[in-house]
Amino acid sequence: MRVYVTGNIAVDEIWSIPDIPTKGSSIHGNKTSQDIGGKGANQAILLSRCGIETTLVAAIGNDNNGKWIKEQMLAESLQLLPDTLFPCHSDTSIIFNSADGDNAIITTTTAADSLSLTGITQALSAAQPGDVLLQQGNFSVEKTRGLFAFAKARGMITVFNPSPVKAAFAELWSLVDIAVLNQHEAALLKPEGVKTLVVTHGSQGALLKAPDNEAFCRAIAVTAVDSTGAGDTFLAVMLASALLRHTEIDKLALTHASQAAAITVSRAGTYSAFPSISELTALLQN
Ligand code: ATP
Repeated sequence: MRVYVTGNIAVDEIWSIPDIPTKGSSIHGNKTSQDIGGKGANQAILLSRCGIETTLVAAIGNDNNGKWIKEQMLAESLQLLPDTLFPCHSDTSIIFNSADGDNAIITTTTAADSLSLTGITQALSAAQPGDVLLQQGNFSVEKTRGLFAFAKARGMITVFNPSPVKAAFAELWSLVDIAVLNQHEAALLKPEGVKTLVVTHGSQGALLKAPDNEAFCRAIAVTAVDSTGAGDTFLAVMLASALLRHTEIDKLALTHASQAAAITVSRAGTYSAFPSISELTALLQN
């Protein structure tokens, strides 16, 4: 059984600046860190660190950032497809943190948009019935729909985390087996009729609604340093916990996910805050 994550991979650049610039202004700032980012990459990395055979289908540009992304990903035990570099800049998220604690984020999707539906389905050619297709909200509604339709026709299990959210994602629920959303996404998209639904409630916890199984799992109380990436950690570890035990998503899967997400929120950064293989192995054995 293999999980195919189709989505984006990006370079996250964190900048410290005195204040959010106004139109026409020119300011000084410091670049404080650079890490792998993108929701597709985050979720694929965490699944593979849990011991799940994982393929990430995401586009990388043929620029210096693309070479850097490829080098960084050698440290992770996942398959990255397609094997080619695209004739564009790699996707980037530039995160500006101002001195008063506010932020502004600029994200590109040029590389993710370059990956066509045909290109992605070619990368999924080895997928078998029972394998999993996991998508986030970084593709267009049409591409997201096309991939779920392809996966259903193959007998795959479909998992949708519709973030960043688009209102038209609400049309896709009939193609989704497992939906994972935060409260705001759930309020907008009203995921009715999905077999397994998980709604996360930030520092409060997460709610599972599945046939014969409804449970609320409280979040682990920790001092939150940086909650970015909590949702990606939660989803990946919840899915891995259930897949490794050959069960449906259950309360134990949410418990494992909450423990892993608590590790991520208690550390600074996103990729650098993710739990390690040894932390995840220990956590999933309990
Ligand atoms: P993200 O910020 O990554 O987009 P999200 O909005 O998708 O997150 P959240 O609902 O904020 O998802 O969080 C997902 C899970 O992470 C929660 O259900 C909870 O278990 C855990 N979590 C989030 N924030 C905290 C916190 N401050 N303390 C402990 N656990 C947390």
